[in-house]
Order: sequence, then C-alpha cells, then structure tokens
Amino acid sequence: MAGQKTEAKSAPANGVPLFKSKVTDLDLKLDNEIVYEFGGPIGVVGMMLGFPSLMYYFWVCLEYHQGKLIVPAVFSMDGIKAFFWNDIWAAIAKDACPTWYAAKIYLGYIFISVILAYTMPGPVVEGLPIPSLQGKRLKYLCNGIAAWYFLLVLSAVLHVTGIFRLTEIIDNFGHIMTIAIMWGFFLTTSVYVMSTILGTNHRMSGNFFYDYFMGACLNPRVGILDLKMWAEIRVPWPILFYISLSCALKQYETRGYVTGPAAFMVLAHFLYVNACQKGEECIPTSWDIFYEKDGFMLIFWNMAGVPFTYCYASIYLMKFEQTTGIAITHSWAFTVFLFTALLAAYYIFDTGNSQKNRFRMEQNGSFIVRNTFPQLPYGHIKNPSYIKTAHGNLLLTDGWWGVVRKPHYTADLVMAISWGLITGFGSFLPYFYFCFFLCVLTHRVTRDMERCAKKYGKDWDRYCERVPYIFVPYVF
Ligand code: NDP
Repeated sequence: MAGQKTEAKSAPANGVPLFKSKVTDLDLKLDNEIVYEFGGPIGVVGMMLGFPSLMYYFWVCLEYHQGKLIVPAVFSMDGIKAFFWNDIWAAIAKDACPTWYAAKIYLGYIFISVILAYTMPGPVVEGLPIPSLQGKRLKYLCNGIAAWYFLLVLSAVLHVTGIFRLTEIIDNFGHIMTIAIMWGFFLTTSVYVMSTILGTNHRMSGNFFYDYFMGACLNPRVGILDLKMWAEIRVPWPILFYISLSCALKQYETRGYVTGPAAFMVLAHFLYVNACQKGEECIPTSWDIFYEKDGFMLIFWNMAGVPFTYCYASIYLMKFEQTTGIAITHSWAFTVFLFTALLAAYYIFDTGNSQKNRFRMEQNGSFIVRNTFPQLPYGHIKNPSYIKTAHGNLLLTDGWWGVVRKPHYTADLVMAISWGLITGFGSFLPYFYFCFFLCVLTHRVTRDMERCAKKYGKDWDRYCERVPYIFVPYVF
C-alpha cells in the first residue's frame, strides 16, 4: 500500500538482505510525474514521421547506392549523388510495397512467436511492485530460451527442406520492412485503444500525440502474455538475427563459403538474441518493464525500428559484394582484433546485466538459478558490497558496478561500434546503429540519473561518490 515502509529481512545465503519493498509515497509521486521528454508533442510527432521516413531513405541508399548517402536534387553537391523524389517513390512502389508474401513472412513469424510465448515451458518470476497497481507484482512466464531453440530448429528444417528458404528474408527485405512499419502503427493504435476502453491508462499527459508516443498503458497483457516484454525480446532481436543469417546464406549460395565479416555479423546478432532469451528472467525488474509505458516508442521501435535499421552492416556487406563482385574482408590482425573486442564486450555486457539484475532479484526474493547457455563466470557476485538507501532499495557497488555506473551500456556501445568497423569505412550506414544508440543511451542515462537522484536523494550522492564515473573509469 502507498506510504507503507519497506520491510527488511536478512537472507544470509548471499549476504543480500531481502527487501520485499512496498510502494512508498515517493514511488507513487515519481511514477505519476509527467515531464515532457523528447521535445514534447512537437518532438514526438517529428519522430513518428521521421523514423519511418528515415528507414525508407536509408533503405534506398543501401539498396540502390551502395550505402552512399544521397541528397535531394535541390541540394545537389559535387561528389554527392542527388535524388529526385519521383525516383524514391518509384523505388518504394517497386521494391518496398506491401505484398501478401511479405505479410505472410513477417506476420507468420509474429504468430509463431506469440504461440511459443504461450506454450513453451519456462519458470515464472515476479516483477517489481507496480505503484499504479497498489504495489502488485505481476508474474512473467520466462520461456524465451525454449522458444528461441525451437525457432532455431524450426527455421533450419524449413530452410533445408526448401519449404521456406531463409534467403527469402533478404530477397523481400523492402516489402517486409513496410509490413513491419504498418504493423508497428497498427499494434501501437490497438494497444492505445484497448487501454482506453479497458480504463488502464496511466500517467497520461492529456496531449494525444505525446500519449500515443509514450503509450497509454503500462502493462498490456493478454492472459499470461505480457505484450511489452514479448515485444522487447521476442520480436526485434530474432528478426535481426534472421536478417543477418539470410545475408550470410545468400553469400554462401553464391560463393560457396561465408567471409569473416558476414560470419561476424551472424555471431554478433546471435549473441544478442541469445543473451536476451537466456536471461529473460532478469528483464521484469528492468526499467522498461516497470516504468516505461507501451506506446509508439517501444512498440514501433521493437516491431520495425530495431530489426530493420540495426541490420545495415549485414546488408551493406552483402550489397557491396553484389554490386562490385568483391567481398569485403580485412587483414587477419584486424579481424581477430574485432572478434576479440566483440567477445570481450559481450562478456562485460552479459555479466554486467546479470550481476545487477541477479542482485536485484535476490533483494526482491525472485532470484532463481538457471542453467541456460552460456552461464559466464562473474555473472553472479557472492556477498556483494552495496549502499543501503533510506528508500529501502540497495545499490550495488561491486563487480563491474563498482567500476562505473553503467558498465553494461559501455559494453553495449563497444559491440555496436564493432558491428560498423567490421564493414570498413565505405559507408556511414553500418555506423548508424552506433550513433543512434549513443544518443539513446546518453538520453536514457540522463533520464535515469535524474529519476534516481529524486528517488534516493542523499544516498544517490553517496553512491555517485563511491562510483564516480558513468561509462569509462577516469574519463567520463
Ligand atoms: P539499467 O539496467 O541501467 O536499469 C536502470 C535502473 O537500474 C535504475 O533506474 C535503477 O532502478 C537500477 N539501478 C541503477 N544502478 C543500480 C545499482 N548500482 N544497483 C542496483 N540497481 C541499480 O537500464 P536499462 O534497462 O536501460 O538497460 C538494460 C540493458 O538493455 C543494457 O545493457 C542496455 O545497454 C540494453 N539496452 C539496449 C537497447 C538497444 O536498443 N540495443 C535499448 C535500451 C537498453 P531502481 O529505481 O529500481 O533503483
């Protein structure tokens, strides 16, 4: 109940006191606070129009101009190719129009992933107390890893038997992207309308555009299926992986082998999907789940933005080879360096997320041991050090979390830049993800730090003194 104090019991097993925290007045206040983000209504309208437009623009650059950025003819400059709007419309009408076949591929995947989310076995974990639900903890069925393995086997069978060749994904990329964009808008609208009808709207600003962007509902659910958690990990990352796999298979079909950079992208995306599924039980305590609402920002970006923009490195490698006949490769030293950087960053990303989330789960009383692959050493800290806050929550100051305040962000960014570097320096597009992600994380850090400073007050100052750097020790 609002206003009740947190209860502390000790859980000697790992030295982390159990805080089955109840919602405080401050939690309620912060959860209901409306602050215009992203430039307010005008900014979000710009983003809702800008994101899909940018996706088409980048797609044209990749598809027809070898990843070179083109400019409208009126701004024509020496050395930079100009385009005419008619050419863009013609390209979209031909190679990115919605088709039934593309709808079958994309929505077929969505359908299968929903069915798997309902039917696959997995543990059920409790989330954090939700202030707007009087402290109720929602339950999450974490069967992502079983669904992921099932999907891998199913797709291998479909490909090998020729029922559905995975190369069809890249052959129909433009069409599928359009279906994903349409689906993103459709799902956002459906969730918004249902939430309004069911009376589950929360933290509404009163401005339709802003609320459509940020979302109306905090936890949309259909039975046991939490739509937000499903959208966060079951859709974007597997589709991204399949796009990269499709590019690599295309190369294999034409060359008879897969080059180092193409294999790198498949590995990079495999690691990301696998990490999300194997550690799914950690996600209910994350900020997206217990604080962010389910609006255009999360839905569109997960349904269309992530899979169809984070894949540019893989597509660029493939297109470059198709148009020049030369596959991009690098020296052994550079290739080994990038593989090492990717794996090292992945290790910190995986164990960093795991250290904090497991610590939080121990505190929350929802910690479970899982043997999903790979369980990396240092992913769970024994008897960790932490700062106890007056709020009741504990702030971890051990492991990677004793080095910087956002170790998982730094590692994620290193992975992101490695996805660009593996393509060389011929195009900006493979670096788009890194640049975009840097902006997202910088903005996220700012929002998060402001919220934590309000929530924890002097304890947050103590924590920042104890862990002074955010991303890189002694630098920033
Ligand atoms: P965090 O995991 O950083 O979660 C932030 C929350 O964690 C804070 O609000 C606070 O919550 C709690 N917290 C912060 N510091 C501590 C601490 N020292 N000890 C205990 N709890 C702490 O945020 P995200 O959800 O943003 O990121 C999760 C992962 O997802 C990251 O690896 C990120 O890179 C990745 N990500 C990837 C994206 C992509 O597009 N590729 C997009 C966004 C995220 P409380 O109020 O409960 O204390």
